[in-house]
Amino acid sequence: MIRIGKAGDNDAVVTGDYVSRYHAQLVRTEEGIWMLEDAGSTNGTFVNGKQVLRRPVREVDRIMFGGEDCVRTLTDILHAAGDYSTEFEALKGTYEAFLAEKVRIQSSGIFKVRLLQTLPLAFLGIGGLVMGIVGKGNSLLSGIGLVAMICLPSAGIYLGARQSAKIPGLLQEKITDFRTKYVCPKCGASFGEQPWEVLASRGRCPACKAVWKRADPQ
Ligand SMILES: [Zn+2]
Repeated sequence: MIRIGKAGDNDAVVTGDYVSRYHAQLVRTEEGIWMLEDAGSTNGTFVNGKQVLRRPVREVDRIMFGGEDCVRTLTDILHAAGDYSTEFEALKGTYEAFLAEKVRIQSSGIFKVRLLQTLPLAFLGIGGLVMGIVGKGNSLLSGIGLVAMICLPSAGIYLGARQSAKIPGLLQEKITDFRTKYVCPKCGASFGEQPWEVLASRGRCPACKAVWKRADPQ
């Protein structure tokens, strides 16, 4: 439960001329819905212009405590109470997408692309060897055969290596991009490449104390 009001010991402190010391509270149901309840305030709690005693609220709702000088969204209230669990939950997808992308880049570089580029040239090299044997006595043919045998596989290896050399750069780009997104939603502290599940098991940010994972229902 998140208590809302003017008094300093509320979970979410809100200020305004018509706000009561203990004005309202947000209660999360087992279905994960936030219920807004008036706590017997003097000037009332309103959702989208209508006075309410108890009502489910969503991000799009305009919540007013007492008067127009205190209007908040659900996210405003959750953030005021240090709850960043919605934003933290979204980072799970960010982490999983990064892992999948990393594996994709690494595997494509090492095996498929390299092999495909090297094989045809290696076969041509063998062709050169055959040509050299067949054209024995013919200096031109055996000369071409010798050059092909030596040069073509080397060219294949060179091209394959050049392709693989792009991998660290591409991967580094992805890692840099990922690290700017994979941070505490409140204070921006970096998570590095720590698995999302490990962070989730901690529950809150060691730096800013923001709640990452709620103990449901609360
Ligand atoms: Zn933090």
